[in-house]
Amino acid sequence: MASGHCIRSAPRVFGSDHDGWVTLLDADPTGQTEQVLKAARMCPVAAIDVFDGDGCQLS
Ligand code: SF4
Repeated sequence: MASGHCIRSAPRVFGSDHDGWVTLLDADPTGQTEQVLKAARMCPVAAIDVFDGDGCQLS
């Protein structure tokens, strides 16, 4: 949807390409868990899934 909530919530993890579409900058963002969970909560279309290192879904 390209709303950009994820980029504002976790700018070290989510970026955007030249067309404005979201890109994943870091698929294993150590130390960014709270920011990534916030991004998942803010996403209006629930497009972000978050898993811990054991593969358990956190969001
Ligand atoms: S992933 Fe969700 S929060 Fe990020 S731009 Fe797309 S719709 Fe918006």
